[in-house]
Amino acid sequence: HRQHNISFLKLFMFSVLGCITMHVSDPDVPSSLKTLSLEGHFSFDDISYTAKDFGNRFHFLPSAVLHPKSVTDISATVKHVFGMGLSSKLTVAARGHGHSLGGQAQASGGIVIQMQSLREAETRVHVGEFPYVDASGGELWINVLLESLKHGLAPKSWTDYLHLTVGGTLSNAGISGQAFRHGPQISNVHQLQVVTGRGEIMNCSAEENADLFHGVLGGLGQFGIITRARIALERAPEMVKWIRVLYSDFTSFTEDQEMLISAEKTFDYIEGFVIINRTGLLNNWRSSFNPQDPVQASQFNSDGRILFCLEMTKNFNPDESDMLNQEVETLLSKLRYIPSMLFQSEVSYLEFLDRVHVSEVKLRSQGLWEVPHPWLNLFIPRTRIHDFAKEVFGKILTDSSHGPILLYPLKKSKWDNRASVVIPDEEVFYLVAFLSSAPPSSDHDSLEHALKLNDKILDFCQKAGIQMKQYLPHYTAKEEWKAHFGDRWEMFAWRKATYDPLAILTPGQRIFQKAV
Ligand code: FAD
Repeated sequence: HRQHNISFLKLFMFSVLGCITMHVSDPDVPSSLKTLSLEGHFSFDDISYTAKDFGNRFHFLPSAVLHPKSVTDISATVKHVFGMGLSSKLTVAARGHGHSLGGQAQASGGIVIQMQSLREAETRVHVGEFPYVDASGGELWINVLLESLKHGLAPKSWTDYLHLTVGGTLSNAGISGQAFRHGPQISNVHQLQVVTGRGEIMNCSAEENADLFHGVLGGLGQFGIITRARIALERAPEMVKWIRVLYSDFTSFTEDQEMLISAEKTFDYIEGFVIINRTGLLNNWRSSFNPQDPVQASQFNSDGRILFCLEMTKNFNPDESDMLNQEVETLLSKLRYIPSMLFQSEVSYLEFLDRVHVSEVKLRSQGLWEVPHPWLNLFIPRTRIHDFAKEVFGKILTDSSHGPILLYPLKKSKWDNRASVVIPDEEVFYLVAFLSSAPPSSDHDSLEHALKLNDKILDFCQKAGIQMKQYLPHYTAKEEWKAHFGDRWEMFAWRKATYDPLAILTPGQRIFQKAV
């Protein structure tokens, strides 16, 4: 009866607070795992940090955390769980940097593998005509970049924030302003080493074990644990010219974005964001960006209009700066932004790629980093982006003060349709990312408010028949997952049955459940 009351209380707290804390540990787990002979070790105490992620809304405590020193540690652990068959509820989740939003790297009562401990072989850069880097699945992208830069090289496709792991982003897609040209990060991987749900260590690529390779990329951790990845590199520029221009007309903004992503000669990074009812933002930019026309910029008044910021960079080396300025001028002359609203800056390539870390440091010092993040990331087909914008910006959302709203186009032809990730069925589609923070507030529940707005946006998409797909999806029912994958569900389920037949891996995605 007491247990029932506790469950009810948790459910109540979930509905009130939008967060959930669970602990279903099996008392036999430590003794069974202690029998394994490993190079690394398990910990059973002080493991509550693995029940937390960037979303800060779901908290599922595992029974044990594996700190692997080698791929065989991971294989032995998964094999052990596989060998227990369906008599055990034990599941296994790889945890990258725990920057998931909805408990995806957690395993209630199961085993969490702390992937950053896996440093079996160092990050190795291979120079030559087609350079690449071999990195551990638990390595942070910032470290992959730092190692590559020592050879004057860098990966081609990025996320906006680099303190994420190779295995974590490759399990989703990995998108930023370079994806229009190079595709997402999953389109820039040559080869993987994976531990399947049976505990087998397998190498895979487009040529070898191709189905596993494509399945794991964007596979939400369902088919295997990525222990190593071979990532394509290119020559790294020393500097970037970083440009922001503002629009008040959505049509001109998106037409210019689409023109830029289709042009042969164009910028190297193209993103955009939406500014609703925000004062003082341009002042904030002043510390890092120079307005082209300081007098006009200081007098600018948006008159309450929604503004759209197109953000671009052009790579260069210092000895090419004259040519760069000419090229940038030619490109800018084709755009229809508000003439006085041009802001520019020049920074090192590393500074540009690691830009979000600067905000992280600032937010952490203000206690605003470890708050709930009810993010919503959507892929919207190009043909419906205007309907979407008309309803969402200004009507559903009346301000953008709770976090950035990104909006930029991507090209389907740069995505490999054999990978597991699902995207809309149109050549051009937009990433629209509502990156809200919900710090505790005295006057209203900001988390509840943000979740309601997310629901309204999703509701609108459904009623308006917008064939959107969620990126970093979060669903709780199998029917929702089936709808998400659409006609690719059969393939996804087949891959699960093939590579992880007992549904041991990555229970936090809540797609499949171990049948005990
Ligand atoms: P985790 O959160 O630890 O794991 C993510 C999922 O992958 C979990 O299901 C986990 O079990 C599984 N997993 C982890 N490691 C492995 C592995 N080695 N093998 C198999 N499965 C594994 N994404 C973008 O695409 N573009 C962005 O610009 C971007 N910006 C971001 C900015 C911030 C501040 C944050 C917090 C996130 C951002 N993301 C972005 C989202 C990011 O890609 C996801 O959070 C992703 O989950 C990576 O985080 P992680 O490495 O901490 O992985």
